[in-house]
Amino acid sequence: MPNEAALTAPVEDYLKAVYELERRFGGAAATNALAERLGVAPASVTGMVRRLADQGLLEYERYRGVRLTDAGRLAALRTLRRHRIIESYLATVLGYPWDRVHGEAERLEHAASDELIDRMAAALGDPAFDPHGAPIPTRDGAVDERRLTALCDVGAGQRARVVRVSDDDDGMLRYLAELGLLPGAAVTVVERAPYDGPVTVDVSGRAVAVGTAVAEAVLVEVDG
Ligand SMILES: [Zn+2]
Repeated sequence: MPNEAALTAPVEDYLKAVYELERRFGGAAATNALAERLGVAPASVTGMVRRLADQGLLEYERYRGVRLTDAGRLAALRTLRRHRIIESYLATVLGYPWDRVHGEAERLEHAASDELIDRMAAALGDPAFDPHGAPIPTRDGAVDERRLTALCDVGAGQRARVVRVSDDDDGMLRYLAELGLLPGAAVTVVERAPYDGPVTVDVSGRAVAVGTAVAEAVLVEVDG
């Protein structure tokens, strides 16, 4: 496989984005979705995708999008490991609030050496999850990607446990913390309004109504 140490920050960001999209949609990542996630023009995605395919990091599926090769997946998981260990270290050791660690990790993940990351992980006792509930890949690229359900897809009357929340938006993380929608929280869906209307959730005895964007960002394991 290619030497991961030689990958540039933009390449690492692309591979990470493809990984996240494949995970979310359960198949090839559409190049439009990739452009949106990376905040770049679709035309510039095409060029980068071709280069990454030439390097054996992903495969282009006509009309469907891109998929990581084994080498690409391993590289993406290495970056995710660095990102999530940095987040954990900042939150646990340095006392950063959970809505401020993502931005720092986005920058530091490209600079940290494997040794630094391994020492940080060891200092934390090799955590399995980051502060937002995302699984931390091992050094060998093993990761606990269990199937989770978005809160917006949980039926009325069902009980669930929050496992993971999206960390893309600092403001949303603060809002989720205010609502108590944190990893580990037990919730019951009280009511779902039709046509993508709000979802009313009981969180520790308090009824809160959340919009679709929030309900999509909260991933749960449904009881039973
Ligand atoms: Zn993050």
